[in-house]
Amino acid sequence: MPNATQFHHDLALLDWHLELGADEAIGETPIDRYALEKPAPKPISSPKSETSPEHITPLAAEPAAFDSTPLAQSCDSLEALRRAIEAFDHCALKQGARNTVFCDGNPNARVMIIGEAPGREEDKAGKPFIGRAGQLLDKMFAAIGLSRHEDSPESSIYITNVLPWRPPQNRDPKPEEMALMKPFLLRHIELAQPEFIVTMGNASTKTLRDTTLGITKFRGQWGEVLGTPALPLFHPAYLLRAPEQKRLAWADLLSLKSRLDGK
Ligand code: URA
Repeated sequence: MPNATQFHHDLALLDWHLELGADEAIGETPIDRYALEKPAPKPISSPKSETSPEHITPLAAEPAAFDSTPLAQSCDSLEALRRAIEAFDHCALKQGARNTVFCDGNPNARVMIIGEAPGREEDKAGKPFIGRAGQLLDKMFAAIGLSRHEDSPESSIYITNVLPWRPPQNRDPKPEEMALMKPFLLRHIELAQPEFIVTMGNASTKTLRDTTLGITKFRGQWGEVLGTPALPLFHPAYLLRAPEQKRLAWADLLSLKSRLDGK
């Protein structure tokens, strides 16, 4: 008889398969379709938005108007960092935001997930990834046994964004906004000390990884951020628009799971 954790894990996995479109059992024997796979299809063209894989932001070239590094580095705890960001007045986005969105989940988690910026729901609630994209994010990680609501570092995730304030009308974050807030993000990683980082989508991947490739080409390629293994993944908002890409996201999640299992 499976235990409750196994049951919820299996249920989440089935949910994820449903999301992928696998809603019917059509044979007795499983087929490894990855072994038969052709090269990944070209990304579909969709309107540019903050999470479009085609959208590449030349961050490295953009200097920040104000150097927030000394302030960020002076924070010696996550709580101090949260307070410093809440009191930071050099980013115009803050004026239009209802809340500073700092984090959600378990700060002791082995996995830290970094998204782009709060949307409408997140701005209202003051928590990252709680709208539709966030619900998909939860399903994705539940399928590999991880949840933001768990207490144990082994089965939880910790979530933050590059920007703590919502850009107006959900427009793309500007390179200078991301450069301005990057020292806080780096300090956030240093203080949380995750074992693995997942950068979700272009903005977070480009902010933290040295690449000129968009997320479509770069996803799944492990590298390092501040010496911590880091994996770029498709942003769930993109996966909502391009569900056929979910199988690639699933492959990347399995790659993360293998690392977590020490394989
Ligand atoms: N998209 C993000 O990148 N972050 C959020 O918190 C919500 C949507």
